[in-house]
Amino acid sequence: MAKRDYYEILGLDRNASQEEIKSAYRKKALEYHPDRNPGDPKAEEKFKEAAEAYEVLSDPEKRALYDRYGHEGLKGVFREGGFTWSDFTHASEFEDILGDFLRGTIFGDLFGFGRERPKRGEDIKVTVCLTLEEVARGVDKKVRIRRLKTCESCGGVGGTTRVCPTCGGLGHVRRVSRSFFGQFMSVTTCPQCRGTGQVLESRCPSCRGEGRMEIEETLVVHIPPGVSSGNYIPIRGRGNAGPSGSPAGDLYVYIEEEEHEYFERRGRDILYDLPISFSQAALGAEVEVPTLTGKARVKIPAGIQSGKVLRLKGKGLPDLEGRRGDQLIRVVVWTPTHLAEEEKALFRKLAEYEDRALPKGGRGFFRKVREG
Ligand SMILES: [Zn+2]
Ligand SMILES: [Zn+2]
Repeated sequence: MAKRDYYEILGLDRNASQEEIKSAYRKKALEYHPDRNPGDPKAEEKFKEAAEAYEVLSDPEKRALYDRYGHEGLKGVFREGGFTWSDFTHASEFEDILGDFLRGTIFGDLFGFGRERPKRGEDIKVTVCLTLEEVARGVDKKVRIRRLKTCESCGGVGGTTRVCPTCGGLGHVRRVSRSFFGQFMSVTTCPQCRGTGQVLESRCPSCRGEGRMEIEETLVVHIPPGVSSGNYIPIRGRGNAGPSGSPAGDLYVYIEEEEHEYFERRGRDILYDLPISFSQAALGAEVEVPTLTGKARVKIPAGIQSGKVLRLKGKGLPDLEGRRGDQLIRVVVWTPTHLAEEEKALFRKLAEYEDRALPKGGRGFFRKVREG
């Protein structure tokens, strides 16, 4: 069956705003809700179709893929077999409409009603190191990961199966226990098939019955500007595949900043220590400093004190909201350690003038100097 156009499903034109998309979806979801159309599989189909359309159109990235390439563009977004309710990321947002129905359906869709939900695959964590330059402009990083993927030969089942002899395919067993108060009947997950209702008859040669295989893959992860150490980017469904073909866990890409040769990060600002000479401090100067985007020239005012901080506006890092910080330049007057005879003579000459120029020191002296 040919897939319908997502805009058509929601009755929208192609430049609909997010607000329009949302309200159109809400209308359709209410109209086709299975509780209002009991026993009508067509309505249920439309109900799901609307959710799929909303899932794509409400997400700018997926919407852009769809706008450019149509349904073809979403092949990598939904698992083989297309959209299922577990792909619907807005369940909590539309809890009032979807509520119990969805909870039932996610189970039903994936595992058949009445069975215990198999475990989802494990999440994976990977760390990428970024330079401050990369933090400043954002970057597409290649990430290599090893993860478990559902075996393609057997679809994760692990081989050929037959109905579990212990539970007869039900996935659960009844137990009768006696106690002081009388007989109890309890229902528990079948210990042999662990709730799947099926047991292996022969093992799949590709995965030796595991249903999953380890693969190595390289992903390109888009990292927006302004991240910092400890931030992470979740990528749905790129963790380990679950057992028996159940959904994969997620991949978490953690950010770590590399130490920079020149700069120290202070939130959005970056700090650069600039050594200058006595004469530059006394007479003023124009010097070149590195920035995250090349070099910049800075005017050192005459009479500057060691420790004074100058500011290059907008030369820091952006934050995640796009506000940009500054580059702070902390001036450090460098005292020469090896003097030639000629230099010593000049300093001695200078010393004759210095006594009258020195202020009284003491507590808080340098703080006042820096702030003043
Ligand atoms: Zn296999
Ligand atoms: Zn069983």
